[in-house]
Amino acid sequence: MRVAVLSDIHSNLVALDAILAHARSVDAIWHLGDVVGYGPDPDGVVARLGEVGATGVRGNHDAAALGGPEIDWFNPDARAAAEWTRDTISGATRAWLDEQPERRTIGSFSLVHGSPLDPLREYIATLASARDNLAAIDTPVGLHGHTHVPVAFVGDQGDVMIIEPRDGATLEIDDRRTLINPGSVGQPRDGDPRASYLTLDIGADAGPGSETPVTVVAWHRVAYDVEAVQAAIRTAGLPRRLADRLAFGA
Ligand code: ZN
Repeated sequence: MRVAVLSDIHSNLVALDAILAHARSVDAIWHLGDVVGYGPDPDGVVARLGEVGATGVRGNHDAAALGGPEIDWFNPDARAAAEWTRDTISGATRAWLDEQPERRTIGSFSLVHGSPLDPLREYIATLASARDNLAAIDTPVGLHGHTHVPVAFVGDQGDVMIIEPRDGATLEIDDRRTLINPGSVGQPRDGDPRASYLTLDIGADAGPGSETPVTVVAWHRVAYDVEAVQAAIRTAGLPRRLADRLAFGA
């Protein structure tokens, strides 16, 4: 089974559609939250995820859009966008967001937005936080977003390795625990403005001599029409910095 894992779409429908076109051959789509916030098209993104039957979890920006206290931790741009999103979204979008749980387990995979220990707040950005969260997951693999930077942490018993993937990089999951971040669809922050996501090939052939199927992770980058989204952000009256940063992936 082949799964596309998407995180931090942030109301960027143009980037989402570019990724869905790229990921045409997948059997399922999982999302890791922050479906809305920052970007100009929350209703369009939620409608599209509904059309493709995406399964996932709630992010801090989704919680803020629903009226949660998460908005109090936001910087001024994020707060302005969250208030705009609250005022803009349809009842159907609100209901869909409200159905997303903070955690979800699918087979061997734990899905959260931020971290298994604190799904709506913690950023897994250091080896120390990765170590704590690898110990905390109760499945072999954890999938998370929130940092907008693609990465993986592999290991247990305190011995943790960081993998910083490039476009097209792959990782074969072995029997060590693994935390995997697909990067951000709608607002990448690793210096590459292209939309980021990953695919999981679950039950892939491990090659000659091995009968045990494996899971292979592959990270992908997809170019999209950044200028169209920047124009839509400005037209919506959202903070201009939210448009500017998309050109730099920052
Ligand atoms: Zn985010």
